[in-house]
Amino acid sequence: MEIWDLYDEQGNKTGETWERSRAYEIPEGRYHIVCDVLVRHQDGSFLLTLRDSQKEMYPGCWEASAGGSALAGEAPEECARRELLEETGLKAEKLELIGITRKPATRSAVYAFIASVDCAKDSVRLQEGETVDYRWMEPSAFLRLIREEPVLAIQYPRYKPYLVKLNMDHEKYMKRCYELAVQAGKKGFDTFGALLVHNGEILEEAENTADWNKGLFGHAEFNLVHKCANRFSDTILKESTLYTSCAPCERCLCAIASLGVENVVFGVSYEAFSKLTPNDAVPVDREGLLGKLGVRMKLAGPVLEDEGMHVFEWWGGEYRPLKELIAEMAEVRAKKE
Ligand SMILES: [Zn+2]
Repeated sequence: MEIWDLYDEQGNKTGETWERSRAYEIPEGRYHIVCDVLVRHQDGSFLLTLRDSQKEMYPGCWEASAGGSALAGEAPEECARRELLEETGLKAEKLELIGITRKPATRSAVYAFIASVDCAKDSVRLQEGETVDYRWMEPSAFLRLIREEPVLAIQYPRYKPYLVKLNMDHEKYMKRCYELAVQAGKKGFDTFGALLVHNGEILEEAENTADWNKGLFGHAEFNLVHKCANRFSDTILKESTLYTSCAPCERCLCAIASLGVENVVFGVSYEAFSKLTPNDAVPVDREGLLGKLGVRMKLAGPVLEDEGMHVFEWWGGEYRPLKELIAEMAEVRAKKE
């Protein structure tokens, strides 16, 4: 027999308890607590689980959370941790309450949490009869899917402010990278910019200072790594995200790895950038290769890619329309063939 505590409209415990089997008889103005937990990995991806096809409600649908009712004596946070462990086998490093929604019809107050986890991604344990599969999803793809899948669409309003802010943060930092890149261009350098963010604070910024004539490498990400080395602890760096206006080259990837930063968000992708180079981008599993060397790195993007491509109009200090730059490179490519 499952027993719940009852709460009033203001979220105060009333001292009354209620049996689950009589949930529909809970008096008006009284609520029981339900927890909904969205799981976010340290690399930024979200956990989705596939509901068993035998389930009465929404069989075979993707859902994005663990959750259930709080038992008598259990605080919302304790309930969230228990449900998360039972349904996924995962332990939260951090739980963040992002909103409370009261549903008078079902007499439930839904506490929506984000659980931050830092587990091996294949360590999810499915619960028999409940879930049959799982996958981790990039924030931008997740944001698209959450509006389409029926179960996710119910969860969406609860998490929308959080997800929208997350996406807007990416865009906010990327716009700053683009400013840095244009700034570098106007000084006569190549148009690239990068910055490091920890807990919503920009720790450091850098521009490109490459000089071909002098043989100076000077990539923005490399300069950023140089500025941050020996200044921030491994813990802070591991928790930080490096934003860069363009997907990093191999030398910079290694520099970022040596700094110990695991999360990288880029503006312009390798594919789009290759339109401005004589060669096509070769698809390489960079995360996988680094992973084999024991280096954890998550490369996410593109973010505001169209805007990022226009940044290259300031390449070397002399403004030229993007169309012209691409056409010129197309000619170079044609001559090669
Ligand atoms: Zn580089």
